[in-house]
Amino acid sequence: MCSFVFTIMLNKLSIKEAHDGLVKKDFTSVELAKACFDSIREKDEQVNAFITITEDKAYQQAELVDKKINSGKEIGLLEGIPIAIKDNILVKDVKATAGSKILANYVAPYNSTVVNKLKKAGAVIIGKTNLDEFAMGGSGETSNFGPTKNPHDLTKVPGGSSSGSAASVAADETVCAIGSDTGGSVRLPASFCGVVGLKPTYGRVSRHGLMAMASSFDAIGPLTKNVSDAALLLETISGIDKFDSTTVDRKFNFTEHLKRDIKGMKIGIPKEYFSKGIDPQVEKQVKEAVKKFELLGAQIVEVSLPMTKYALSSYYILMPAEVSSNMARYDGVRYGYRADSGNLLEMYLKTRREGLGEEVRRRIMLGTYVLSSGYYDAYYKKAQQVRALIKQDLDKVFKLVDVLVAPTSPTVAYGLGEKMDDPLTMYLSDIFTVSANVSGVPAISIPCGKVNDLPVGLQIIGNYFDEAKILNLAYQFENNLK
Ligand code: GLN
Repeated sequence: MCSFVFTIMLNKLSIKEAHDGLVKKDFTSVELAKACFDSIREKDEQVNAFITITEDKAYQQAELVDKKINSGKEIGLLEGIPIAIKDNILVKDVKATAGSKILANYVAPYNSTVVNKLKKAGAVIIGKTNLDEFAMGGSGETSNFGPTKNPHDLTKVPGGSSSGSAASVAADETVCAIGSDTGGSVRLPASFCGVVGLKPTYGRVSRHGLMAMASSFDAIGPLTKNVSDAALLLETISGIDKFDSTTVDRKFNFTEHLKRDIKGMKIGIPKEYFSKGIDPQVEKQVKEAVKKFELLGAQIVEVSLPMTKYALSSYYILMPAEVSSNMARYDGVRYGYRADSGNLLEMYLKTRREGLGEEVRRRIMLGTYVLSSGYYDAYYKKAQQVRALIKQDLDKVFKLVDVLVAPTSPTVAYGLGEKMDDPLTMYLSDIFTVSANVSGVPAISIPCGKVNDLPVGLQIIGNYFDEAKILNLAYQFENNLK
């Protein structure tokens, strides 16, 4: 086989396929990494999924794995597998910009827990992916390093904020990637780019070394080419961590449960997720997918989550409140960009004005407003109360059904620039994803069809720590029904 064709193909492999090839010595880990870097060189000028690539470090790690294989030792499933990391997650000695000017030259002094776990598993980190600035956005366009583009159609957005992680997987620039999801940022780009994206239960995966956006919502999750890869990555990155007191000790073998029969599984269809505003063609695709579950013996039940109508508003009050507090550290003193000024107050102000983009500053202002005395009770406190009601809604419904199935987004990917001048319309894209973050339950987005040649995402939402169930259903759909 000519080597060009050979290298072009390796980057398309899933984790499992790549692992099998490494074990059989069909190719080396170095060749696998090279195939990804070649693909990046070929496509990324257009797609703009990467902010930093770590070629030398990647080859060093890949060589170690190749040596291990050649010495006849067994390797783990992730050993020697290329992975891309969202640029708000720290990788020691590598730049971590969060897509912001204020951190454009910031180099991470330590590894996030997730990255430590991936490194321990032998994964090959190939680079840091583009994102909406500090993960604030839904389209991948608020990055200081330019917008990421959708590999299915370069005139469309890839979805955000984990835009680069989703686009790099969709463009076969990497085998898999890691993103973060505060209000939908793993699932929405997964949906727009036609890949699998999983947001775990809050507390399943450590947030240590993830730049905090809204700490009570943030979750790190995998973006992959198929469901079993997502299960494997989740297994690898989850677990209790002394650096994140919200993590819990609930290890689980997700891969083992993927193939379970779904006969008798009760699937709830929340009627509020098929409301006005959803593109009728998207609705049709999702409903057709739902019908197919019946073929495997699952039972479809219509359910109601009446508090859903308040999810977006409560998210867009609570999230900026936490954002405003978390962003206080970027003041030009402790790290990152510092504007020139002879006066301390002026330096603070100028640093933030010059270093932070419009969307980030808007959220800091909104958050400061809803937390200020006089408005705290009317906004922040009220939204916290609504948050409790949204949780109660889900608690009730999960007594009736095993999982919920809904669209991930009301539309397919839209045009670049289309919603940039209208933040409220942009926020509406999060309507189906935020409830999982407001409540903390797990949810996955998997491709279920296309509208106008653009991917449609099917969302499966589970009860707390029920990732095994949503992965099981997702796997059955992907392998037996698609
Ligand atoms: N699009 C949502 C927002 O702008 C979600 C962001 C995220 O999950 N990081 O807040």
